[in-house]
Amino acid sequence: MTYAWTVIGAGPAGIAAVGKLLDEGIPPEDIAWIDPAFAAGDIGAKWRSVSSNTQVGFFLSYLNGAKAFRFSEAPPMPLTEIDTEETCALALVADPLRWITEHLRKRVATFETTATGLFLERRQWRIETGQQELTSTNVVLAVGASPKKLNYPQLSEIPLEVALDPEKLAAEPLDNATVAVFGSSHSSMIVLPHLLRHPVAKVINFYRSPLKYAVYLDDWILFDDSGLKGRAAVWARENIDGVLPERLERCLVDGPEFEEKLAQCDRAVYTVGLERRTLPETSQWGQLDYNPNNGILAPGLFGVGIAFPEQSIDPFGYVEYRVGLKKFMDYLHSVLPLWLHYSP
Ligand SMILES: Cc1cc2nc3c(=O)[nH]c(=O)nc-3n(C[C@H](O)[C@H](O)[C@H](O)COP(=O)(O)OP(=O)(O)OC[C@H]3O[C@@H](n4cnc5c(N)ncnc54)[C@H](O)[C@@H]3O)c2cc1C
Repeated sequence: MTYAWTVIGAGPAGIAAVGKLLDEGIPPEDIAWIDPAFAAGDIGAKWRSVSSNTQVGFFLSYLNGAKAFRFSEAPPMPLTEIDTEETCALALVADPLRWITEHLRKRVATFETTATGLFLERRQWRIETGQQELTSTNVVLAVGASPKKLNYPQLSEIPLEVALDPEKLAAEPLDNATVAVFGSSHSSMIVLPHLLRHPVAKVINFYRSPLKYAVYLDDWILFDDSGLKGRAAVWARENIDGVLPERLERCLVDGPEFEEKLAQCDRAVYTVGLERRTLPETSQWGQLDYNPNNGILAPGLFGVGIAFPEQSIDPFGYVEYRVGLKKFMDYLHSVLPLWLHYSP
């Protein structure tokens, strides 16, 4: 089977790529879409109970950002009832993503499997999957990222998706545990209060630098992609930069107390960022990298989403990587016309 475009991954970035390709006039029968689950990626599978760092208005911009999404025809959904300047549980975003996925799936060719290899031959990409081989002139990788871990084998890990979800965390044996939480991210500031609601002996937050907060200015946001926002920012201001709650200690990773504090811990949560999922094998070049200004990896091979974020520079020259649903949509809007001209 040969396609003009194949999108690998059906998280928010892959959904946006399919929608924007259809908006560009690519016939649906020329588009293949590969994902093992088609369930809105990590927002649908892992982060449903997490409080968003994005205001609802930005999610609505994403959902209305591709005509092919037909979001104006969607059945009533709780997300559209919320004040656009509020944040929300990510489940409220996962539901419309699934609705859009379902109707896009009826139009393009879908393969419920994992892409395992990518080879450029005769000006076409040969895509190996767990099921069959496809060929495609162009491929969009939207494979997502998974939480980074640190190597402290003596500590029993509480996976991030458990620590972020109060129901899953309630099933963990935490009585009298001393839990190390590494990091100062949005996730850290959600995990810390979750843990403190349990009868833990204490929680030690290992950190490297001062907290960073996003600030909404007239026409841009300071630390938009790396600063704390929403409820996580409110909690951090009151409890980390305010008064530390009982049973919470903080320890500088490079400080003199690190070894002693670490030795007190028996469990660990790693909230130290995300890293790109392993790409399908591309043995022709080894590990491929991407251009962070236009998403190009190779002729006809492009990347979008949290695995390949766009680099941006704020008005004061600070460099960040743009992660978030609306940002993926805006980025596709600007790079897709270029990608249409960069086939092998
Ligand atoms: C705690 C937390 C809070 C967040 N809050 C917000 C927020 O408030 N607002 C916001 O906009 N963003 C938020 N994000 C970011 C958001 O979750 C991610 O940006 C988004 O899920 C990434 O979308 P994606 O499509 O790039 O990747 P994913 O959602 O990870 O989707 C990737 C998909 O590709 C599939 N895949 C991977 N490899 C292959 C392969 N080889 N073959 C086929 N399929 C494959 C995966 O199975 C998955 O379905 C948050 C993230 C976290 C961790």
